[in-house]
Amino acid sequence: MARKRGPLKGGISPLFVVMCVIGFTFGYLIWFNSNDTNITQLKYSEFVTALKDGKVAEVEVDEQFVAGKFHNEEKKFYAFAVQNERLWTLLEKSGAAITVKPTDRQNWFFYFFLMLLLFSIIPLIFFFYAKQSQGGMGGGMGKIFNVGKSRAKFIPPNAIKVSFKDVAGLVEAKEELSDVIQFLKSPEKFSRLGAKIPRGILLSGDPGNGKTLLARAVAGEAKCPFFSISGSDFVEVFVGVGASRVRDLFTQAKRHTPCIVFIDELDTVGRQRGAGIGGGNDEREQTLNQLLSEMDGFSTEPGAVIVLAATNRVDVLDKALMRPGRFDRILNVPYPDITCRKHILEVHLKKVKLAKGVNVQTLAKGTPGCSGADLENLVNEAALAASKADKRAIEMIDFELARDKLFMGEERKTLVLSDSEKECTAYHEAGHTIVNMMLPEFTDPLHKVTITPRGRALGVSWFLPEADRHSEFQGRMEAYIKVALGGRIAEQLIFKEVSSGAMNDLENATEIARKMVCHYGMSNLGPISFGSRVRKGMAMQPEYSEATANKIDEEVSRIVIDAYKDAEEILKSETDKLHSLAKELLEKETLFANEVYDLLGVERRGQDKEQEDSQE
Ligand code: ADP
Ligand code: MG
Ligand code: ZN
Repeated sequence: MARKRGPLKGGISPLFVVMCVIGFTFGYLIWFNSNDTNITQLKYSEFVTALKDGKVAEVEVDEQFVAGKFHNEEKKFYAFAVQNERLWTLLEKSGAAITVKPTDRQNWFFYFFLMLLLFSIIPLIFFFYAKQSQGGMGGGMGKIFNVGKSRAKFIPPNAIKVSFKDVAGLVEAKEELSDVIQFLKSPEKFSRLGAKIPRGILLSGDPGNGKTLLARAVAGEAKCPFFSISGSDFVEVFVGVGASRVRDLFTQAKRHTPCIVFIDELDTVGRQRGAGIGGGNDEREQTLNQLLSEMDGFSTEPGAVIVLAATNRVDVLDKALMRPGRFDRILNVPYPDITCRKHILEVHLKKVKLAKGVNVQTLAKGTPGCSGADLENLVNEAALAASKADKRAIEMIDFELARDKLFMGEERKTLVLSDSEKECTAYHEAGHTIVNMMLPEFTDPLHKVTITPRGRALGVSWFLPEADRHSEFQGRMEAYIKVALGGRIAEQLIFKEVSSGAMNDLENATEIARKMVCHYGMSNLGPISFGSRVRKGMAMQPEYSEATANKIDEEVSRIVIDAYKDAEEILKSETDKLHSLAKELLEKETLFANEVYDLLGVERRGQDKEQEDSQE
């Protein structure tokens, strides 16, 4: 989680501070002068009379005036007076307690003012220092004196309400972490038998898959103190600041054992040393070294500080971080599979109001490649869509809208397409869809086809897998290329002309073909991998010869051209279907799979078939 800096804190200008200090000083001076209503001014003659009558208890004598108190009276007085022999004789005779003031009040005010100014300048200097050390990003008065202090957020035990229940899936990671939780709950049970528990655990996985969530859940389950900091909080312009922050963090943590220190985005400090441009970055290296030595330091002590860290770039981390005693356990936090997506959706759907027909399984199926954060976002977008439409509960169609928006961008209502552009798009999409439908064994079933422009796309044919797949077969890859080319072929067949709209399709088709040749050994070049590159001098070069490179290119284009011909055959023999689907699309813009099946008289597939079967 990125730490956000409040706009107010960042917005305090030094000028504002100076104005405040000066304002307060003047304010105080004026108050000091006027506030004393307890003091009355006497005429010199009145003062002398009072003195002679023995009414005066104390007198303070200055160059220009006398001030003091009467007996039996709270009130103070003062009077302007000139110091001379006569006054002194009177004073000495009166029996009042006399003090002589060495400096006059004017001077005293002056010094007071000077001191205030001085004291206000010192923090200002700190302020500028702190501001600079954050790369000009702000920071505020609160941080002025904290340059070398860790910025870790301290969360006391029981304050975290997240538990393993809130983390769907991630079974393996949770299992490993439950050992750590056991340990944090009762460390003596482990140390008694001499069992060692890993000190450092690294959570690795792409953003949004629940690393931060998991770390918080561990703290919530173990009910122990939790220090949370982001790697970027260590990184400073000034050499030594980051290192001292690390030291401070661990000093604090050791006072609260057993506890968890969570370093999010570890890669910002933990990059390989000496790898930066210009030979590396002194400050970051110092910070990293400090972190390494802290992690070594407590591995022998009984008090337990468990360090959890998260990163989505394990590959760039300094290898020293992964040595035994440091982050020697790496837990994967992968993209959720279909069952896990279902669980994640269930977690987040609990917080909203659902209509009857919402099928979580279908939603899970329809969101391949989505991270946990994407799914949370999907639920939220659907709730927004339903609220906008004044609905009582979220319906399936709201999820459909939300997913379209998330995957493809906002609907472009203002985009005005000419009739010929629309027609071209309709035939293009119909081309994809029909090629797909005619290759049922090798393709994913249709979900829907639309010519409503969204984001950068003018239209889309959606095909959704029935289940997650972890490997692909050659037949499926070839079919994928055919479907991708179907759009372009339809344009060519109907209009005898092609548009730029197929750019993405061609890219995808070519990329798959190249992978088939170079990585999967699915070509006439045989089961050889042509992937790796080797360093030759300064440049990275392929490991194979120029002649092989030419052969690879030939094979790639052969695969694409063959696929093109096959798909062309399909569309030529199904031109009727192509026309009727394109016409229907121009009319209705969006067609769901069963509508397409009905229109074309094609047998239903996948989920639509299941539904039909169960209705009968
Ligand atoms: P990361 O730290 O890996 O980038 P986060 O932990 O910040 O990801 O996840 C972002 C949000 O996505 C979480 O707050 C949570 O709402 C949701 N999320 C991600 N994975 C899961 C999961 N396995 N179960 C439930 N919610 C999840
Ligand atoms: Mg995170
Ligand atoms: Zn296309």
